Amino acid sequence: MNHHILSIHETQQLLKTSKNGLHQSVAEERLLENGRNELVEKKKKPTWLIFFNQFKDVMILLLLTAAVISIAIGHLKDAVVILIIVHLNALIGFIQEYRAEKAMDALKKMSASNSLVRRNGSIIEIASSKLVLGDIVILEAGNIVPADIRLSVTHLLKIEESSLTGESHSVDKLTQELQSEDLPIGDRNNMAFKSTIVSYGRGEGIVVATGMNTEIGRIAQLLQEDESQTPLQKRLADFSKKLSFVVIGICAVLYGVGLLRSEDPIQMLLTAISVAVAAIPEALPAIITIALALGAKRMVSNNALIRRLPSVETLGSITYICSDKTGTITQNKMTVTDIWQPNSIAPFQNFNAEELLLFAMELNHDVSVNESNKFKGDPTEIAIVEYARKHNLYSESWKSVDRVEELPFDAERKRMTTINAINDKYISVTKGAVESVLNCCTKHDDSEISKAVNQFAQQGKRVLAYAFNILDKLPENCTIQNTEQNLNFIGIVAMIDPPREEAKQAIADCHSAGITPVMITGDHPITAHAIAIETGIIHKKTDRVVTGLELEGYTDEEFEKEVEYIKVYARVSPEQKLQIVKLLQKKNQFVAMTGDGVNDAPALRRANIGIAMGIIGSDVSKEAAQMILLDDNFATIIKAVKEGRRIYENIRKFIKYTLTSNGGEIFTIFLAPLIGLPIPLIPIHILWINLVTDGLPGLAFAAEPAEENILQQPPRKTDESIFSKGLGLHILWVGLLMGAICLVTQVWATHLGNDKWQTMVFTVLCISQMGHAMAIRSDLKSLFQLGVFGNKQLVSAVLLTFTLQMTVIYVPFLQDIFHTKPLTVFELLICIGLSSIVFWAVEIEKWFKRRNLQYRSSME
Ligand code: ADP
Ligand code: MG
Repeated sequence: MNHHILSIHETQQLLKTSKNGLHQSVAEERLLENGRNELVEKKKKPTWLIFFNQFKDVMILLLLTAAVISIAIGHLKDAVVILIIVHLNALIGFIQEYRAEKAMDALKKMSASNSLVRRNGSIIEIASSKLVLGDIVILEAGNIVPADIRLSVTHLLKIEESSLTGESHSVDKLTQELQSEDLPIGDRNNMAFKSTIVSYGRGEGIVVATGMNTEIGRIAQLLQEDESQTPLQKRLADFSKKLSFVVIGICAVLYGVGLLRSEDPIQMLLTAISVAVAAIPEALPAIITIALALGAKRMVSNNALIRRLPSVETLGSITYICSDKTGTITQNKMTVTDIWQPNSIAPFQNFNAEELLLFAMELNHDVSVNESNKFKGDPTEIAIVEYARKHNLYSESWKSVDRVEELPFDAERKRMTTINAINDKYISVTKGAVESVLNCCTKHDDSEISKAVNQFAQQGKRVLAYAFNILDKLPENCTIQNTEQNLNFIGIVAMIDPPREEAKQAIADCHSAGITPVMITGDHPITAHAIAIETGIIHKKTDRVVTGLELEGYTDEEFEKEVEYIKVYARVSPEQKLQIVKLLQKKNQFVAMTGDGVNDAPALRRANIGIAMGIIGSDVSKEAAQMILLDDNFATIIKAVKEGRRIYENIRKFIKYTLTSNGGEIFTIFLAPLIGLPIPLIPIHILWINLVTDGLPGLAFAAEPAEENILQQPPRKTDESIFSKGLGLHILWVGLLMGAICLVTQVWATHLGNDKWQTMVFTVLCISQMGHAMAIRSDLKSLFQLGVFGNKQLVSAVLLTFTLQMTVIYVPFLQDIFHTKPLTVFELLICIGLSSIVFWAVEIEKWFKRRNLQYRSSME
């Protein structure tokens, strides 16, 4: 259908709608009839495929080979056990991946967008997916157009349609019907198309196509983005691959040594395969996804919505947080406290000076009143309207003066203008940042005005100026150039916007966590300075404020020299935000940047973590961001950083645990023949230990609470190896210790002539890993300082593993399968005692670390 050749009226008739929009009941019917306004997604991986994909793994193939070999040599029982283990492995992998995927789905749903529509004559906000044909949609700069729309109202509306046309210049939009039917999309300038971007101005229009019937719907399917691996995952996948080669090398040697010692070649092959399976940490990348996804889920409950999984991991590396002021650090609950006018303001018609200012305040805003008589709109403007209407000089009749034109606010020029019909003439009213409005004014006393402004600004107040002009006739084409000039200054309005209560603590947390908080605002430098001092952003003598204008004058070198002292950027334009991010990054800083407007998107995209505002943020900023603050609150950022650090630490602990365990297993099997002992374990023992010890306690590390001092540490370097800070060494020595204890058990038991030595080694290897898991919950604190039950999930996993191990030893038919023998109480106690050596050794390691730290801090 070519709606661009229809007039607005014809379109309304065609779609049975009106200026006031559809009735709610009609809209609901149409939604049922025509379906939701959504692009059909690329086919998702079906659940069964997730399950079968688990079998593609090389390790699983190795295991299947082992099963086949077992069958071939007539060990049917062994083959069955191996097959069961394969399935259990696949099942655990499946459950994990499925959970991770569900968590991500929930997050995606939450970041879906809303639209403003007229229904039953009032303006309401609905989910964009619920738009139907005939809905009247309101568009503002920063919106992503939610459906195909025939425009009915436009004020300087510009739309960027590159997603459809490839043309990156914004198109000016109008409402007039067009003549030619088969115009290319890019020339249909009275239409707005789904998924294009409103880059400027305001407008309104009638929905003429939704979902897959839209222009973008026809060419859809390309909107899907691949969830790529996080940097950590990539590095670990890489590491796993390298480790696999080492392990396979070791297994080959093991096999060779076995042959030299004339062991049964097939049995030896099975042993080698089992060791390979046990030692290769194939589950690492998957476990990391799960830890990140679960972390992201937890962050949402703290109001930080993660849009890209890797940011959970990188949050912990942030060194700079560049934040907006209004609404993020302050409450965005404005109240007008003062108005000020020079004595020289002349009366106008029958208005005295103060009435003129109140009148101007009424004429220039986009606040609307909703069904329950509440104001809706920009908090700055709501404060103004509230003040104006409360004041006794105010006249209700001013509300009905018709607005004929408007030049919407933008963060670049920092003012807006409306033109209103009044007694066959026109009055234009401009409000905005003081310098910006004064630039458009004729004669005025600068010094008097700036004295008043500075006085308010020093109290942290936001100050707006008003000016007006009388036009005999409407300019044919209202532009910023021909309208915002030769204005007459009326006065200024000052309002307070108190800092958020949590901001102070959050900013103190930033400082202790080695993160520099910086304020970037479009507001006045003196206002910004006052708020920065109040919240602690400026806390050193050398900290300073820079304005956008000064910034322009800097050379790159100057800026680079100054940057670490600049804590507040005031009166900056969105483009300068991008410049600030780039420069900080050049100085090797890892930058989080907040933004809300349409022009903030490039800076958000460029920042290491782009953060959009959930409440006041534009669609475009949300789309560009990696994280959305659902409560617009600065304090939420630092909470997310804390959570990010916790998750990273827990991933590290998991790696520490798994690789140490794998090390213990390899050393046990590999060292025994080298010192002339029989191979202590049979293949299914190894597979069993790999299954129960990795699967159960491994995941429980994700539940470990944050260490107390997590916000007293400097940020982690982005290129820091996961094995740094002694992790590699720990894996080596504890792995060796585990191996040694197993061999001691073996030697000791065989010397006593104990025929249960194999069961004992099997048990010691299993239980010592449990002790290790408990000991590494903290890098520093002892388990008893932490509280033994501090991580209930881990305690349960450890107890469950222990119970399973006991079952394998004591249940007769399992004894048969696993070739175990029941231990006496005494033997079992000996095993537990020997296993606990690992636990105590790691506790002693931590004790030394604590002592060192104390010693160092006492030296400072
Ligand atoms: P902030 O960084 O505090 O969010 P903005 O970019 O929103 O700053 O606003 C910058 C300046 O533009 C404000 O200090 C104010 O002077 C002016 N301004 C803000 N909102 C409006 C508005 N609705 N109409 C006119 N001027 C505005
Ligand atoms: Mg703002």
